[in-house]
Amino acid sequence: MQLIKELHLLTSFKKLGLSKNILKVLEELGFEKPTEIQEQSIPTLLAEDTDFIGLAQTGTGKTAAFGLPLLERIDTSINATQGLILAPTRELGKQIAEQLKIFSKYKDKVNVLPVYGGANISEQIRALKKTQHVIIATPGRLIDLIKRKAVKLNELEYLILDEADEMLNMGFKEEIDKILSYAPEEKITWLFSATMPSAIKKIVKKYMDDPLEVKVNSKNEVNKDIEHQYIAVKTKDKENALCRFLDLNEDLRGVVFCRTKRDTQDLATSLLAKNYKADALHGDLSQAQRDRVMKRFRKDNIKLLIATDVAARGIDVNDLTHVFHFSLPDDNAYYTHRSGRTARAGKKGISISFINGREGYKIKRLEQALGIEIKKVLIPDGKDIASIRIRTWAQELKQENKESRTDDELLGEVIEIFKDVSKNDLITKLVNLELKKLNIGTDSDLNDTTKPGDRSSRESRGRGGRGGGGGGRRDRRGGGSRNFSKKGKAGFSGRRRKDKKAESGGSDNIGGRRSRKKK
Ligand code: ADP
Ligand code: MG
Repeated sequence: MQLIKELHLLTSFKKLGLSKNILKVLEELGFEKPTEIQEQSIPTLLAEDTDFIGLAQTGTGKTAAFGLPLLERIDTSINATQGLILAPTRELGKQIAEQLKIFSKYKDKVNVLPVYGGANISEQIRALKKTQHVIIATPGRLIDLIKRKAVKLNELEYLILDEADEMLNMGFKEEIDKILSYAPEEKITWLFSATMPSAIKKIVKKYMDDPLEVKVNSKNEVNKDIEHQYIAVKTKDKENALCRFLDLNEDLRGVVFCRTKRDTQDLATSLLAKNYKADALHGDLSQAQRDRVMKRFRKDNIKLLIATDVAARGIDVNDLTHVFHFSLPDDNAYYTHRSGRTARAGKKGISISFINGREGYKIKRLEQALGIEIKKVLIPDGKDIASIRIRTWAQELKQENKESRTDDELLGEVIEIFKDVSKNDLITKLVNLELKKLNIGTDSDLNDTTKPGDRSSRESRGRGGRGGGGGGRRDRRGGGSRNFSKKGKAGFSGRRRKDKKAESGGSDNIGGRRSRKKK
């Protein structure tokens, strides 16, 4: 077993030119193979003294893509800051530092320090008295520290701009300009970003020297079999909107993501009361309870898991048709993780975000950051649901195998009863009866038409709402288990994205480290 594992590492990560000490850590971390951006960046960054631009979306392992070659290039016999990584936020800075510390576990003592605003500066100044080979910094704090002469960049060899687009979004343009002008001319600059807005192009033009650009098809990592959709709905209508999707889709199996444990529990309780096969999965459950929920879900006794991001980590179920974002995650990477629960193993899946009318900008931001298109769809109304289900019912009726009947006598009697009824009349009667059974009224329109900046809180609720006069859904529908039907308004559009193969400037050369870039 061990041998096979090692051989595997040899052929995937070692091929990139990484040293044994790093390979050992990667194995311990369980990294099985490099991500595409890692494959395309690491060999080049190890072997060539070139400015470099790496474009790949969130969650694709960019930290290791620049972090591993950087660590390989640091010369711990030199007592100076050789690498500087700029990050947009304190959290990201800390994360990068933690990852680099782990990556360098078996390497000669590389000192790595994160510095960021909002924390005690004198402590950071004290830590900087020791040689920090790599500093990870948020732009504002770094400038403070440079001004106080706590950070010296005169020996800097590698400047890395991580999440460059996010840094510019956060208004760090001036700070970045300043830092780039402080750093020595002959340094090597690596820029990593999910997107390449024109503000970054300007920075590239001004401060980078004929950079090599690698772009990993951004649609590649967010699974292209996922259809991304969103609905605009007021918070109080979210649950009813969810029910419409459940009613519409007979074969729906999905996960609903909520922000808090409380939200998951409340929603699960409420859906169960309405006879939907749902249950909550959150961090307060014991392992045994979790296992029980998952077992029921796998066996299809539950159609819908309602989970927090944390609780959903590590759940592995294959044929989910839908992922619902009851609220959008704060971190885009979570969107990718959440959506990735569906459309596994070549199947199609739908990821639907629930936002209110004013939050359209969040969708725009998400589209931009992840390089995906998120289509607006309408919340199905009662009429949609009824027509879809009648169609399905009719198809099923048509396909019913008439040879399987057993009681000829009974059949004869029934045929006799209908002898004066025309085919059309019979069908009409059947459909009417079925509609009565479905008992779906023309519900209120749940789509939130509030525009961004709209102050009015116009209520679009008619009958059929929670607490509304007409009684809840449960009363109107009877108790049996849900029989949803598929396709409809919120179905697949069949749109497919093209895969673009990224160009690589990579080479398999090993070595060539630490020679300064020739200008
Ligand atoms: P990005 O910066 O592109 O958003 P990160 O560098 O933060 O992505 O990586 C996202 C997650 O993927 C991290 O938890 C990281 O440890 C993990 N990861 C990175 N590379 C690999 C790999 N080759 N195999 C498995 N997991 C990886
Ligand atoms: Mg990152």
